[in-house]
Amino acid sequence: MSTESAVLARVLLIDDQAIVGEALRRMVEGEQDIAWHYCADPTKAMSAAIEFQPTVILQDLVMPEVDGLVLLRFFRANPVTKTTPIIVLSSKEDPKTKSEAFKLGATDYLVKFPDQIEVIARIRAHTRTYLAQQQRDEAYRALRDMQVELEKKNAELQRLSSLDGLTGIGNRRRFDEYLEQEWLRSARDGNILSLILIDIDHFKAYNDNYGHQGGDECLRKVARTLDATLKRAGDVVARYGGEEFAVVLPDTDLNGAALIAERLRASVDALGLTHAHSKTTDHVTISLGVAGIVPRDGGNPADLVKMADEALYEAKESGRNRLRVAAASDSGQVEQLPASQVA
Ligand code: GH3
Ligand code: MG
Ligand code: MG
Repeated sequence: MSTESAVLARVLLIDDQAIVGEALRRMVEGEQDIAWHYCADPTKAMSAAIEFQPTVILQDLVMPEVDGLVLLRFFRANPVTKTTPIIVLSSKEDPKTKSEAFKLGATDYLVKFPDQIEVIARIRAHTRTYLAQQQRDEAYRALRDMQVELEKKNAELQRLSSLDGLTGIGNRRRFDEYLEQEWLRSARDGNILSLILIDIDHFKAYNDNYGHQGGDECLRKVARTLDATLKRAGDVVARYGGEEFAVVLPDTDLNGAALIAERLRASVDALGLTHAHSKTTDHVTISLGVAGIVPRDGGNPADLVKMADEALYEAKESGRNRLRVAAASDSGQVEQLPASQVA
């Protein structure tokens, strides 16, 4: 009886000769850490392996019906036995057969009849290696699963941390990151980057009259409408602050940006959200400031925000529910705009 190992070896012997099977069984029968299964029919070897889950396969080379080398090839081709240690039992010490067997994936090679001590020692050694390998594979698998899970959680966290809790559109952080990213891209490509700043008109009066919850609902509706009105995937609306929104328009010139701004204004106008205390009209409206720039070295996204903010101020000053476009300093692309819209 063994005191050497707590690990249980599971040995599957495949040999057509019952006498060999019996002789080998006797060799290990006193060993409590070795479970034994004998398969006399090589055509049933694979199903026996799948069922018994051996830690070591002992396999005869010369059998009727099935060539031992072919069986070896089968074992190596099956995912269940692909890495199971296989000790080939041969009746002779033939270098050619031996080399063939190793080439096909045999782990070890014993000539019949091997010494009992050697058989047991090899069974235990191969079992230990095999189980350690399996544990390592299992640990790697678990680690990979954890990594995938972690990446998913991080992506979700990233998504949540860039969303505005009230309206569900991007938040200020998302805006800052996206503007920075598109600023750099535009600088690289020499493209014009446009920005629209939006502010709800007389929103303080709206809050005062319809309550904070009414105000929140209004913000949600306006956000949803702005978002739904934008069509291009790169055009991103975010909540800039309180009742202010910002739209980043990559690769869009001032004329295009002004067109989109007007579409946004019209879509909020068309919502017709009653605002009995607006000094502009009887429903909720927005004012918009549009600016565009080809980012240059030494420039800063804040320059673009400042331009759009000044245009927004002009839109407010000139009566609200309208847009103003910041005069482009270098591109002359505002020429086609109605003069009334240029700040
Ligand atoms: P103007 O037409 O000049 O933009 O006037 P206004 O009243 O919209 O501008 P003002 O900046 O004076 O007021 C903005 C209001 O927006 C004040 C504030 O109570 C409200 N507000 C800001 N954030 C929120 C919010 O998250 N929920 C609600 N309900 N109200 C908000
Ligand atoms: Mg405001
Ligand atoms: Mg306002």
